[in-house]
Amino acid sequence: MKQTSILFFCICFSLGAQSQESKSAPELTEIWAPVPKTVAPGQSAADPPSDAIVLYGNWADTVNWVGKNDQAFTWKPEDGFFTVVPYAGDLHTKQAFGDCQLHIEWQTPAEVTGNGQGRGNSGIFLMGRYELQVLDSYNNSTYSNGQAGSIYKQHMPLVNVCRPPGEWQCYDIIFTAPQFNAEGFLKSPARMTVLQNGVLIQNNVELWGSMQFIGVPKYEKHADKEPLLLQDHHNTVSYRNIWVRAL
Ligand code: MG
Repeated sequence: MKQTSILFFCICFSLGAQSQESKSAPELTEIWAPVPKTVAPGQSAADPPSDAIVLYGNWADTVNWVGKNDQAFTWKPEDGFFTVVPYAGDLHTKQAFGDCQLHIEWQTPAEVTGNGQGRGNSGIFLMGRYELQVLDSYNNSTYSNGQAGSIYKQHMPLVNVCRPPGEWQCYDIIFTAPQFNAEGFLKSPARMTVLQNGVLIQNNVELWGSMQFIGVPKYEKHADKEPLLLQDHHNTVSYRNIWVRAL
């Protein structure tokens, strides 16, 4: 009993001393090194900061993209943006990315044709396999985990913050790549945070695997970095101002 009392007294004294020390020495909790590197921001949050890789800003940037069967740029470059050429096939970047921050602006056709999944459908596939849906979801009913801002067939967006068709919208995406061990088993899943038009729609969600149109998504081991892919879903969706920061 006596020993227990002594031990209790020692713990209290020790905790008290630590608390006194942390109160009297604020520098004990200061971190001075390393120092984050300096990055110059853009004029607005939509402009690429100084350490971003610009994947599409103007006509010249078509060189950053590859079409179906390794053809050169197969979509239609226009004045500051480009548009899906239906049935030309998907487009992907020459460069590969893993963990990244991606800014991308998109526009579904002003003239509405089709409905549900047939209206302004495209998609942004991180690592060529994890799809953030692009769709005209302005007064357009479809399954919730397939509407704009969904991680397709996995996570519905927290809110529908779509602008009307024909208006430019943007996604700001924070993507964490999955990790695999040497045997090919999943060590940690992919994660995604997405803001659409400045509003949080996916909050660090855990992905279940590659996009699956039919059936349950699953992971398959792939490289640490893979190209970014834009989907040709046969609708004339346009894209502009695409930049990425490798993390
Ligand atoms: Mg799609």
